[in-house]
Amino acid sequence: MGVETVAEEKKESKKSKKAGAGWSIEESEDLYRIQGWGAPYFAINAAGHITVSPQGDRGGSLDLYELVEALRKRKLDLPLLIRFSDILADRLERLNSCFARAMARYKYPGVYQGVYPIKCNQQRHIVETLAQRGKPFQFGLEAGSKPELMIALATLPPQLEQNDKASKSLIICNGYKDRDYLETALLAKRLGHRAIIVIDQLRELEWVLHISQQLNIKPLLGVRAQLSVKDWENQRSIQGERTKFGLTAPEIVTLLQRLEAAERLDCLRLLHFHLGTQISNITIIKDAMREASQLYVQLARWGAKMRYLNVGGGLAVDYDGSNTNFPASKNYNMQNYANDIVAAIQEACEQGGVEVPTLISESGRAIAAHQSVLVFDVLGSNEALGAAQEKPAKDAHAIVQNLWEISQSLKSNTYQEAYHDAIQLKQEAISLFNFGYLTLTERAQVERLYWDCCQKILDIARQQEYAPEDFEELEKMMTAIYYVNLSVFQSAPESWSLEQLFPIMPIHRLKEQPQHRAILADLTCDSDGKIDRFIDLRDVKPYLEVHDFRPAPRGKVAKKKETSSPVPYYLGMFLVGAYQEIMGNLHNLFGDINVVHIAMTPKGYQIESIVKGDTMTEVLSYVQYDAEDLLERMRRYTEQALVQGQISLEESQRLLTDYEKSLRRYTYLVDEGI
Ligand SMILES: *Cc1c(COP(=O)(O)O)cnc(C)c1O
Repeated sequence: MGVETVAEEKKESKKSKKAGAGWSIEESEDLYRIQGWGAPYFAINAAGHITVSPQGDRGGSLDLYELVEALRKRKLDLPLLIRFSDILADRLERLNSCFARAMARYKYPGVYQGVYPIKCNQQRHIVETLAQRGKPFQFGLEAGSKPELMIALATLPPQLEQNDKASKSLIICNGYKDRDYLETALLAKRLGHRAIIVIDQLRELEWVLHISQQLNIKPLLGVRAQLSVKDWENQRSIQGERTKFGLTAPEIVTLLQRLEAAERLDCLRLLHFHLGTQISNITIIKDAMREASQLYVQLARWGAKMRYLNVGGGLAVDYDGSNTNFPASKNYNMQNYANDIVAAIQEACEQGGVEVPTLISESGRAIAAHQSVLVFDVLGSNEALGAAQEKPAKDAHAIVQNLWEISQSLKSNTYQEAYHDAIQLKQEAISLFNFGYLTLTERAQVERLYWDCCQKILDIARQQEYAPEDFEELEKMMTAIYYVNLSVFQSAPESWSLEQLFPIMPIHRLKEQPQHRAILADLTCDSDGKIDRFIDLRDVKPYLEVHDFRPAPRGKVAKKKETSSPVPYYLGMFLVGAYQEIMGNLHNLFGDINVVHIAMTPKGYQIESIVKGDTMTEVLSYVQYDAEDLLERMRRYTEQALVQGQISLEESQRLLTDYEKSLRRYTYLVDEGI
C-alpha cells in the first residue's frame, strides 16, 4: 500500500510539473534513460547533478559534478577520465555471486573460478585491483599475447603448496604462441602458477609437446573449440565461417589422437570457446552452451582428465538501457547468464555420466565497462540554432519582409505551407545574391530569419501526432553542433571504429529542460571526429538533448531575465572502462588524457592516484620530435627575425615563452579565458 502511494505521488508530481513550465528530475531520468544503463551506480540527485554510488546501494555516493569541480581546482584539466575502483570491485563481486547463486540453485557440485581478460583494459591499476579484490574468489587472469602473459605472471602471486584440492587462481594462456610464450608458460608451473595453455590452433600442439618434453614439465592443456552457433535473427554465423582461433570437430579428433599417441591425454584439462564480445541475445549463449556441454562430455568420455569448462567472454553490457537484443543492449542479466551456463553443463554431465567441471568465464566488458566515466566540456556551439530575430526596418528587402511575416504568423494548421514558402524565399534570395542583386548583409538577414522560421516550424511539428517526412530533414538540419574538448579517436575509439553506442549526458543542470538537440564535434580536423549516434529506447537517436550553452539569453524575446547559464557545461560519457583506453590513437596529436582513481572511504571519497595525461613534449616524442631541438630551432629563427628588425625583443620573448610553456602542457584546450 505504502509503496503504491509513493508511486502515485510521483506520477502526480510529474504531471503537475509537465503542466507547468518547470522540468523535473524524473523527466531528465526518462530522457537520458539513466536508470536503464546506470543502475545501481549512476543516478540524479535533487541538485540536478549526477551521483555515483560505486557500491550500489551498499555504500555511499558522491556528486559527480562537485567531484569534477574539485579535481579542476587541483589543476586536473578536462577531458578527464575518472575511474571508480569500487565499481570495478563491485562488478567482480556481482559476477561471482551470480555464479554462486546459480550453483546453489541447481545444486551444482562444482565451483566458479573466473578470469579477467587483460586485453579488455590492461592498465596496471585495473589489473592489480582485480587481482587484489579477486583473491577471495580465486579470480585469475587471461592472457591473449606475450606481453599480457608477462603481466599475468608478475601480477598474480603464485601458490607453492602442492595441494591439488586447494584451487588456485588460474592463468589462461590464449592467443598466438611462439617458443618464448610456451616456454614461459610452462616454466611458470615451477613457480606454482596454474597456467593453462589453450591450444587455439592445431599447429601449436606439436610445439607444446616438443617444448614440454625438452623442459620435462607436464603441460596443463586446454583446447579452444569452434562452435557452429548461428545468430538466426541476424542471419550470420557468430564466429564467422573460418575464424582465426579454435579447432573444428575434425581437428579436435586429430588433437585427441595425437595426445593419445604421445601419452599426454591426461594433460588435456580444459575446454574453451569464445563467441565474441557483447553477445546481446541470450539465445545464442544457450545454443553455444548446449553444443559446448556435449563437447565437454565427449572429451571426458574419450579419456581426457577434463576439469574445466571455460565459456570465454561475451557477457554483454546494456549501454542503451533498453534490455533488448539490440547490439548496444542485452536481453538478459548477469544472473540469467550464470543460470543458463550452470544449468546446461549440469544437465549434459548428468546425462553423460561425467563429473561437472569447474566453470570459468573470461568476462571483460561486463567487469570493466562501468568503472570509468569520461568527462569533457563543451567549447561552443554553431550558429544554426534559430535565434529569434528583430523586426526588419521598413526599407528592408521584400524577401526579408516576407520571411518576417511568415515567422510572425505561424500556426499549427499552416506550418507545412509556411515551411515550403520559407524554403522558396531562401532559394530566391540566393539566386538574387548570385546575380548581384542582394548584398551580403541582406543575405545574412534572410538566412537568420529563415533559421528562425525553421526553428519555430520545428517546434510546432514536434508537437504533432504525425509530422510528414520533410520534417525529418528539417530536424536534421536544425540539429546544433556542440564542439567538445575531446578527441574521439583517443578517448572513444569504439564509438567511431565499431560504432558502439555509449550513454552520454550532461552531468549537471538536470533540473532544467534541455532546449536543443545537438551532435558533438570533437577537436580533431577529421570529419569522422564526431558523435552523431546516441542511445534511444528503440534503435539509435541522431542527436543528444542538451542545454543552452551560450551564456547570453536568446535574443530580446527572452521573457524573464534568464539567469545566464553557468559556463562551463560538462558532459559525461559513461560505461567506457572496457576497450576504450588502449585502442586510442594520436589523431592530430591529441594525447592521453588525465586519469584519476577515486576510492570510497567511510567519510566520502579519496583520490587514490592521478595519472597525468600526455604533455605536448611527450606526444611529439612519439613521432620522433625532440622538444629541446624544436625549441632550439625556434630560438634561432626568432634571433634571425630580431636581427632583421621584424620582431621586437618583447614579442620574441613572448613567443618563445609561449612555445616553451606549451611543450610542457596538456594537448587539449585549457580554459583560461581570453
Ligand atoms: C576479448 C576476449 C574476451 C573478453 O570478451 P568480453 O566480451 O569483453 O567479455 C574473452 N576471451 C577471449 C578469448 C577474448 O578474445
